[in-house]
Amino acid sequence: SQSQPRYKRVLLKLSGEALQGEQEFGIDPKVLDRMALEIGALVGIGVQVGLVIGGGNLFRGSALNEAGMDRVTGDHMGMLATMMNGLAMRDALERSNIRTRVLSAIPMSGIVEHYDRRRAVRDLREGDVVIFCAGTGNPFFTTDSAACLRGIEIEADIVLKATKVDGVFTADPVKDPNAEKYERLTYDQVLEERLGVMDLTAICLCRDQGMPVRVFNMNNPGALTRLVVGESEGTLIE
Ligand code: UDP
Repeated sequence: SQSQPRYKRVLLKLSGEALQGEQEFGIDPKVLDRMALEIGALVGIGVQVGLVIGGGNLFRGSALNEAGMDRVTGDHMGMLATMMNGLAMRDALERSNIRTRVLSAIPMSGIVEHYDRRRAVRDLREGDVVIFCAGTGNPFFTTDSAACLRGIEIEADIVLKATKVDGVFTADPVKDPNAEKYERLTYDQVLEERLGVMDLTAICLCRDQGMPVRVFNMNNPGALTRLVVGESEGTLIE
């Protein structure tokens, strides 16, 4: 049928900014509900979904550091921010009757469970959406790296990186009207041309482990389901 998914298990990366919608800071509940709808559509066609959410809508270690804070402390705050986003996303998913598990790289007993890979895979097999919080648990990393790491660990078929634009372009499509979208890229092209899709750590990890990444626009309603059933959306890096 038309809705036969081409991926069995995906790792979806949402930036914190994606959750803030039109706001300057924080979380827009309307956006959360729309994301829950999009994710629910995937679960509905039998796709196992792992989710990594960023924290940039609340705190980023590098920005706090520029303002004078100790970098590691800032990164800890950034990782805690991803925890808040994860809880908000769980709430939205569960209000939509989508079973959800939140696992944190940093133990936070009483609020979420500690990350355990085998547990995550078991939950995914049972159809739960698994939200991986607190990034990698280490400072100096990003949630893009966490997404690639978790994607590789859970043996996802692909990492799907949601952005505000339709894929990877030759120039910033917001500023340059002649910018063209790439359909496909190799990891080395991304690295050599410094295309700024993801940080280099994340891209290197995917390259070394052969994990494909697709960059797409989550603001296009239905884009997530379309790409999972095989339509051309965004840019494929492999
Ligand atoms: N962070 C970290 N280690 C990780 C993941 C994230 O220290 O493994 C911190 C880092 O300070 C980062 C912040 O958490 O700036 C929020 O994550 P990120 O900037 O990746 O969020 P996004 O840009 O996706 O919203």
